[in-house]
Amino acid sequence: MKHNSKPVKVGSSIVGGSAFTIWAGPCSVESLSQFRETASQVKKLGATGLRGGLFKLRTDPTAFQGLGREAFEIVKTVKSEVGLPFVSEITDPREIGDMLDVVDAFQVGSRNMHNYALLKELAGVDKPILLKRGFSATFKEWMLAADYLIKGGNDQIILCERGIRTFETATRNTFDINAIAMAKLETPFPVLADPSHGTGQARLVPAVALAAAAAGADGLLIEVHPDPAHALSDGYQSLDFPTFAKLMGQMPKLLHALDRDMAAL
Ligand code: PEP
Ligand code: MN
Repeated sequence: MKHNSKPVKVGSSIVGGSAFTIWAGPCSVESLSQFRETASQVKKLGATGLRGGLFKLRTDPTAFQGLGREAFEIVKTVKSEVGLPFVSEITDPREIGDMLDVVDAFQVGSRNMHNYALLKELAGVDKPILLKRGFSATFKEWMLAADYLIKGGNDQIILCERGIRTFETATRNTFDINAIAMAKLETPFPVLADPSHGTGQARLVPAVALAAAAAGADGLLIEVHPDPAHALSDGYQSLDFPTFAKLMGQMPKLLHALDRDMAAL
């Protein structure tokens, strides 16, 4: 099967097309040293994009809410040192202007997929939008959220399956692999898989990451942390460097079996 989707240019990287891209980084940017170390390691291991939360939408209001604007300089410094594009979640339309020169793509998180006011604002922005699936959104509702962006004039869309809420409580979410295969058939947009939120357990992430690639995903959005046990958010689902390195060694072999390749910088 020929693998192809509309390529979306994100800074210096391409998501979609025929190659498989890995976007990696911490759940939250916590400090210059944490983000710098993570970014340089994931780049060395083959990631072509960086992720990192600045404004966090936490279920518990007492939980770490992200460094917010305080992290803008950290991100700019690390991005220029490492030379990789950066994606981060936008939680409030009022932050769009300030984030424009920090991010190369705006991430719409699962909790905001239904925030149509935010989607309408982002539709007017000339940057790619990484649109996560709402954790209780049907496939159809996810596609309609993408339509808000298209209708408003922004078709630089990257879809991201990150797991849905089901009756199963053994895992944080149920990763919907069907949705990846279906999105590849029914939309022209690249589809990333987020096995970190999709499983909520670091020990399950590599298997689900490989499964997502086999199902046709265009790449991964994956949480990696230098010291997951002490992460300020989502440490339990973040890979440490050795585990990420092992996955990065396995992925090309799986892709080659499917006549695909990892993206190069
Ligand atoms: C994240 O990527 O860190 C995040 C908060 O994801 P989601 O919106 O899928 O929960
Ligand atoms: Mn997270």
